[in-house]
Amino acid sequence: MNTENAAATLIIGQGLAGTAMAWTLIERGKRVLIVDRDEPVTSSKIAAGLLTPITGMRLSLSRGYKEQLVAAVSFYRRIEGVLGCRLLHAKRHVRLFKNEIEPGRWDARKQEMKRFLSARQRLVSEDYFHNPRGGFEMKHGGYLDTVSYLSRSRKWFEEQGMMQRGNVAIDEVQPDATGVSWRGQRFREVIYCIGWEAGNHPWFDWVPFQSARGTIVRLRADIGDEDRIIHHGVWLLRHADGYLRAGSTYDTRFGNPNEVPTGDLAVLEQRINQALVKPFEILDARAAVRPIIRDQRMILGRHPAHEHVIFFNGLASKGTLRAPWHAQILAEHLMSGISLPETMDLRGNL
Ligand SMILES: Cc1cc2nc3c(=O)[nH]c(=O)nc-3n(C[C@H](O)[C@H](O)[C@H](O)COP(=O)(O)OP(=O)(O)OC[C@H]3O[C@@H](n4cnc5c(N)ncnc54)[C@H](O)[C@@H]3O)c2cc1C
Repeated sequence: MNTENAAATLIIGQGLAGTAMAWTLIERGKRVLIVDRDEPVTSSKIAAGLLTPITGMRLSLSRGYKEQLVAAVSFYRRIEGVLGCRLLHAKRHVRLFKNEIEPGRWDARKQEMKRFLSARQRLVSEDYFHNPRGGFEMKHGGYLDTVSYLSRSRKWFEEQGMMQRGNVAIDEVQPDATGVSWRGQRFREVIYCIGWEAGNHPWFDWVPFQSARGTIVRLRADIGDEDRIIHHGVWLLRHADGYLRAGSTYDTRFGNPNEVPTGDLAVLEQRINQALVKPFEILDARAAVRPIIRDQRMILGRHPAHEHVIFFNGLASKGTLRAPWHAQILAEHLMSGISLPETMDLRGNL
């Protein structure tokens, strides 16, 4: 038995959850070993990484947005400092009303959202975007370049000897009263950051997952010099790589997690068509499954039967925003014994 890692934490999965968890522990002086399959298409690798203050049909502020944004910006800026590159791009969003109900709903809401609205409201050029009903411009948003964040973090972890490629089979991890064993090595604890697949793991299959597959496309289109993120039944982002991204669909009855259904593509194409004035060309499409837990909850903490088996899941459609704040809460719980909020605790009543 190799006891070299006995004080270290084993992290399974290097998506947005596992990466934020690893950095958060490393920043606090902990040793980690991260194991990930390094699949080409995962939820975190295809995500647009948007941070959007006002969302949904109800045009409401995302739950916990203010405090989670402060934690996220500070976290990504610190990681940019370590990695020496820009990952988080501040950008304004423009939400264009997509039906006759939204303008009235917004009138009733806009006063309470003032803090997230640009002082000078500028909408879109009608040379490039259809805009029959108006809309509003938001500040305090942007996007994370998830591909660069994950790949550069991975490289850094590898250089420190903290990263391994591979699949962790269910019965390979053996917990006991003082820690866990994996492939002949001892760890203080294991943190499962395995996304939607946790719903198929016998230790976690009782967590009420309602995961949903989403499709996102890369496209070529003329949108003039528009550099903001535009929402019009679909969101459109000009990515740092120069291509436009648009998405995304929501499918809870998926079979193959990475299959792009023709129906999803048709829906996206139709919505883009309703948003853009000029012709566009879809270059490719990818699909993956977001890990969603009932009521969009984040669930963290120790397994009820295995003290040293830890869970970190439920990033849903907001992994960029949610991961840093919740990784901090979990790290403080593990290292200082600070209680988890009851609604988040895996040991709480689900
Ligand atoms: C189309 C689409 C668009 C999205 N857009 C946005 C957006 O704009 N903004 C936003 O904030 N969020 C967005 N999301 C949501 C975001 O992607 C998720 O919240 C986030 O990626 C979930 O991260 P995760 O680390 O929990 O899971 P995952 O990304 O699924 O990561 C889990 C990792 O664990 C690995 N793994 C699993 N099992 C094992 C095992 N047994 N052994 C080793 N490795 C294992 C997997 O290979 C994977 O790398 C989007 C998602 C989709 C699908």
